[in-house]
Amino acid sequence: MDYLNSKLREYLDKPGCPLCHLLREQDKKYLDSIFWEMVNDTELRTQLIKDGGLCADHLQLVFKERPSVLGIAILFRDLLIHHLQGELPDFGNIKCRLCIRNQEMEKKLYKTLIKHWPEWKKQWGRHTFLCRKHSRLFPPEEKTSIEIHSFSEKALYEVLKLVSSFIEKFDYQKTHLPFSELEKESWQYLLEFFASKPLSKTRRGGKIS
Ligand SMILES: [Zn+2]
Ligand SMILES: [Zn+2]
Repeated sequence: MDYLNSKLREYLDKPGCPLCHLLREQDKKYLDSIFWEMVNDTELRTQLIKDGGLCADHLQLVFKERPSVLGIAILFRDLLIHHLQGELPDFGNIKCRLCIRNQEMEKKLYKTLIKHWPEWKKQWGRHTFLCRKHSRLFPPEEKTSIEIHSFSEKALYEVLKLVSSFIEKFDYQKTHLPFSELEKESWQYLLEFFASKPLSKTRRGGKIS
């Protein structure tokens, strides 16, 4: 089994969308390679200029992760010089290579999950769901997809329970009741479902870092 497949399997019992988590993990690895190893790669630099840089979401990830501040400074100084010379594509025509890469990986992950579903479904976590974006990869009329959607929906009802309990415990009559780790994180699962990307860096309940 290749690396991506085994990673996907690992995320199947964690809270949140396994595809989002895996893609974000791959994004981080790729950013590391861009800013550490490939920063002096002239082909990459030419390509980044042609692409117009990265999308806002991936730039935010660069800012948050800051793999190498020197690497960031070198690559983006290059971009700024080309922008000032009028050589960058228009903002609306940016082709973010991480987004393009992710689209290709999404198709691959979809096929993998469908293929291994009979064997992997036992592992599907209680709070594992497909986010809004990734649930669209699974055609609602396809037999295996139908089952995956039903597992995901069941998990979303569990998230709903968690978050309702979290809200309830703010009631002044219930403040003595402790929050579980999952309840404390439940509002994050909600945001991640709608954002279609992992937002939290550390998770205690889900053990995702
Ligand atoms: Zn997702
Ligand atoms: Zn992007």
